[in-house]
Parts: sequence; C-alpha cells; structure tokens
Amino acid sequence: MKFRSTNRKCPEVSLREAVLGGLAPDGGLYVPLTIPVLPPEFFAWLRGMTLPQIGFEVGKEFLGDDVPEEIIRLISSEALNFPAPIVTLGGDLHVLELFHGPTLAFKDFGARFMARLMEYFVRDSGRELTVLVATSGDTGSAVAHGFHGVAGIRVVILYPSGRVSQAQEKQFTTLGGNITALEVAGSFDDCQKLAKQALSDQDLAREVSLTSANSINIARLIPQMFYYFAAWAQLKDAPLPLVFSIPSGNFGNLTAGLMAKRMGLPVLRFVAATNANDVVPEYLNTGEFRPRASQRTISNAMDVGNPSNFARMLDLYEHDLNALRTDVWGAGFSDADTEQTMRVTKEHYGYLADPHTAVGLLGLRIFQRQKKIPCRGVVLSTAHPAKFADIVATATAARVPLSQGLADCLSRPSHAVPLANRYEDLKRLLLG
Ligand SMILES: *Cc1c(COP(=O)(O)O)cnc(C)c1O
Repeated sequence: MKFRSTNRKCPEVSLREAVLGGLAPDGGLYVPLTIPVLPPEFFAWLRGMTLPQIGFEVGKEFLGDDVPEEIIRLISSEALNFPAPIVTLGGDLHVLELFHGPTLAFKDFGARFMARLMEYFVRDSGRELTVLVATSGDTGSAVAHGFHGVAGIRVVILYPSGRVSQAQEKQFTTLGGNITALEVAGSFDDCQKLAKQALSDQDLAREVSLTSANSINIARLIPQMFYYFAAWAQLKDAPLPLVFSIPSGNFGNLTAGLMAKRMGLPVLRFVAATNANDVVPEYLNTGEFRPRASQRTISNAMDVGNPSNFARMLDLYEHDLNALRTDVWGAGFSDADTEQTMRVTKEHYGYLADPHTAVGLLGLRIFQRQKKIPCRGVVLSTAHPAKFADIVATATAARVPLSQGLADCLSRPSHAVPLANRYEDLKRLLLG
C-alpha cells in the first residue's frame, strides 16, 4: 500500500516513510492511495472476531506490504489488549466505551498501535528515534504510556505549565525512563510552535531523527478503524440501520469511521458532534469552511478551531459537499446543553457520561429528532468520567469513583523538567 499527500504535490511514499515522516513535505496529510474493500466472507467471520483479530485482518490491508504478518499480529495483540465493550442504555441506544485503556481515553488505541509500529520501523536502523509531541492534555498521556519502555525511541512531551488538569499532568510526568516531560513557561500554542520549529530544523535533523506523534500521523488513524468493526460485531442481528455519533475535535476519530465504511462496513450515517467549536458542522450546513481560534469549553479535548483531519475528509469525498453530506450530519452544542445531557443520562439510564461523550449523546438525539429515521444509534464514548470527575460531579451531583490506575498514578512523584519558552533551550536539550 502506497500513501500520498492530500495536497498531491509530492511523490507517493511507503507506509514506513508516511509513519516516520508524520506530515507530508508539501504540508498535506498522508492518505492511503486506495481504500481496499473487504470481501463478504470477512463480514461473516467478523461476528466471532476479537479486537486483536480485527486489528490483524483490517490492519494487514494497510500494513501488509511493509510489515510481515507475524509482526502485524503481534502489534495488534499487544496494542489492543483492553476491551471496547458496547453498553446498551435502552432500546436502540448504545454506547461504545473506548476508555478502558491505560490513560482512560480513546487515544490509547492510536498511540499504542503507533508506538509499536514505529518500534518495528526503527529497530534495524541503529539510530534512536525522538518522538516530539505538543499536548494540551490527553494526547500527551496516551503517547507517553504508548511509548513507555519501547526500545530505540525517546519521547519528548511539551506541555503548557499550569494549563492541564492534575490527572492529565500526572499521567505523563510520572513515568520517567524514555519519557521526558517538559513543562513550558507558555501556552499550548507556544508548545506547538516549539515542536514545529524543531521538526523543521535541518541542522538538528543531522544529529537527531525526529518525528511527530500528533494526530496528523496516519499510524494513529488506522487502528481507530478497528473498533467500528468491533461495534458492528457486538450488535448481533441488528434489524435497524446503524448510525455512529462521534464527539469530535480534530476529526481523526470520525475520519477513521468514514474509512471503515469505505471498506464495506454497513453504516447509514455518522453524526459529527462538536462543542461550540463547530467549524465542521457549520461547513456541512452552509458549505463554508471558516477555521478560527478555538474557544474554551468543558469538553476541552475537542477545543479545536482548525481541525487537521478535515483535509482527509474532503479528500475522501473528492471535495464533493453533497457526497459528504450523504454520510455525515453535524451539529455543535453549548456547555449548558452538555451539562444537561450528563444529568438526564444519569437520571434516565443511571449512566455517567464524561462531557465529551455527552456531546455525542446529544448529537445522536438531535439527529434522530430531526431526521426521524428509525436507526440503531451507537455513541462513541471517548473518555472515562473519572478523568473529568469535577465536571461530571457538578453536572450530575454524583461522586465519580476514581479508577485504581488513576489513583496509583496520582500518588506518584512528577519528574517534569521546566523549560523556558525559548527554542535554543529546547534544541540544547534535544541534542544533549
Ligand atoms: C481527542 C479527544 C476527542 C476528539 O477526537 P478527534 O479524533 O480529535 O476528533 C474527543 N474526546 C476526547 C476525550 C479526546 O481526548
């Protein structure tokens, strides 16, 4: 399988180059040259498949030319070693819980798979790889845990001092080993700027092999397709058409769903549910794409004003708005509506949803109310409520029990290294 840039202004590359390069040299995002369609037999077997088996079968369609089958099997079983259960709230309303990984958010799927794939690619190179990532919270923890202890790879995380939650900070500053967390005296934008400067520094590149672990990397998207298939496999004998609702920020999760549909997964519609940062729903409704500075909300992992995977969505539908509308319906919601949904979900179903999942529940409800299409709805639950315990407690008056893993992590000492907001300081550290 070859990969090309969404900007189509540079040569096609192998999976290895796409994964180790991150962004294409023309500034575009890598996409598969073609999306393979799975045979009907696959869907007959799918009902009985485990998540690692799905990871192997779907993954080898994209990895098969570059990675031996036994390695794909190993990567899938090691990376996907936690469940993605469907919880039925009532009737045709289901939640797909994607938060049972080590950092309690769905980003574990992408980060763990990417880490093992990169490990395979650098194993024989004899050169250490440095993975640089700027984070406002969840990405840092998933990437840190995904790469912890992986041989030949060093991870450097840049995060804004005082602007991530305590749980998030502890999850990426307490590991040590090959994980270095830099507490930057600046904002998330400053961190991102430092990371970009390092990634485009030719002088530095001669000394250090550097790549990015942000969601522009295609290695994070491929494993995010697997759980859409796993959801279908769990919904045995579904009489009604399937609708997935996806709480979205950078739209990697939703793009992976669209790719799964292109591979043959029978899905009627995808709901693109956002908070007040609603540039994609606005585009679907008006045809105008107006990226802008992000607004702060209670579902902060989705505070994205210029979603990077929008380029991949347009590419997949060849910039045909009506074709995209056939598969994706979108809406954005306020914090007040999100809090009310958390409350109602607890009252009606006894279920605690984190604020991101609540946006997805709301999106599905409004879609069904407006379209009146009988369907089976699956909301992707992207984070454990304990990760946003304060917000959940305020909205529902429920105390959210801390998970054991999170409690352990909170009790460990942090090893963050303070860093001035100065590129020279970062460079010295990367060379050291
Ligand atoms: C990152 C994240 C999202 C948004 O996912 P995208 O793929 O960027 O759209 C939603 N919820 C949680 C909890 C997240 O961490």
